[in-house]
Amino acid sequence: MSTVRPELQRVLCVAERRAVHERVRAALGGLAEVAEAESLAAADRLLARASADLVVCGLDSGAGDVLALLQCAREVSPGVPFARLGADPATAGEALRRGVTEWIPEDTDDATLAAALGRLLETQSVRHENLRLRRAVRTLESCRMLTHCLDPGEVYAVALDLLLPALGRDLGLAVFRRSSMPGSDGIAFRGFDEASATKLQRVAQKKSGGEHFVPGEPAVTRGGPIGQALEELGVGAGPALMVPLRGDESEEGLLWIPEQGRATSAGDLEQARMIATHAELALNNAERYHRAKERAFIDDVTDVYNARYLLQATEHEIHRAGRSGKELSVLFLDLDRFKRVNDQYGHLVGSNVLRRLSEVLLDCVRQVDTLARYGGDEFTILLVDTAHPGAVAVAERIRRTVEETLFEASDGTPIRLSISIGVATFPDHSGDREGLLDLADKAMYRAKSRGRNCVCSAADLES
Ligand SMILES: [Mg+2]
Repeated sequence: MSTVRPELQRVLCVAERRAVHERVRAALGGLAEVAEAESLAAADRLLARASADLVVCGLDSGAGDVLALLQCAREVSPGVPFARLGADPATAGEALRRGVTEWIPEDTDDATLAAALGRLLETQSVRHENLRLRRAVRTLESCRMLTHCLDPGEVYAVALDLLLPALGRDLGLAVFRRSSMPGSDGIAFRGFDEASATKLQRVAQKKSGGEHFVPGEPAVTRGGPIGQALEELGVGAGPALMVPLRGDESEEGLLWIPEQGRATSAGDLEQARMIATHAELALNNAERYHRAKERAFIDDVTDVYNARYLLQATEHEIHRAGRSGKELSVLFLDLDRFKRVNDQYGHLVGSNVLRRLSEVLLDCVRQVDTLARYGGDEFTILLVDTAHPGAVAVAERIRRTVEETLFEASDGTPIRLSISIGVATFPDHSGDREGLLDLADKAMYRAKSRGRNCVCSAADLES
């Protein structure tokens, strides 16, 4: 993780006398940036604009003003060191009891003053580092939530939920590409009202992913499609912290946190980088998980779907056909005398033939249809929105194509094959998955018993 650029510490010196300011400035010798105030009111104004890492009070106006300054400084930055440059040592005890960090006699020599102020600044930087580390530990612990996300869409939303509280903010959004639905982006909102969220959703969906996503580190930005949309809405307009997120494969998205008048600090960027690193690891995991899940449905030899997938897909397509009142046809295909190929040329050639057959079958059906290897030399095809006569015609085309295809042995010897096909249709022949697959299978066996290399319909089984 890259380090945050150290910033120069800031000292507020409050004194009526010019000489005090000059002594303090000389004692610090460029170690810190010094802001000078000549009165309590001027100090108040400076503190309202920016906090200090050390307050040095050389006011002559009395104990009341010193305590008022102390209170004001600690309200802006709790625990900020406060040095009192005083003339009367008798007031030291009371000042220290009231919360002054160090009482320094104003007639002390320059070296002692420099050492005292240097030590106070050092204490404050250790305190800041401590706070930064505690913040980092809290964020790292919260990042553990990301390791449970196996859905990429969830990773973006959880990362947003971690980043907002880490920055002490409540308005933000996550936009991400949904690889499962090309052309439409996913979006998650936090802190937007219903109407704004709906409008933003529309903007996100109109744009294709590439317009939003830029690789890189978290950075402050403005404009772009999201910035423009927020500008139009009048919510969260202006600069924003943008955190790009991407996985190793196709996942990409970004988090967008409007600054809303409060600038992003170096510490905020560090938090964003930490969360982004963990979110990207989670995206990689989610991608790997989905790939493994997909592989579980693919046949190793032919790279088409396997029987496990076919069973799920058939169930799904029957429901879909039932809802839309359309037909679903199933083809059961079995190569004729495939055993002879294995026996004569060996299993490697057998596998090559099955791969080539898969290509031939894929060429015979539409993109929306499903081809699966059921096992051995048996294949199944789901033809969606296809009535029985159409399915029989497809089966016949496949039978003819296989018959005309020249398969090859490893030495180039041509191998001729034929195929037997059974056809059954939902809802004509059966209303459920088992019945439909069983009838298509039986019809295929009927084709075999009719002398192979032919198509047989489930309707023929009744005769
Ligand atoms: Mg066979």
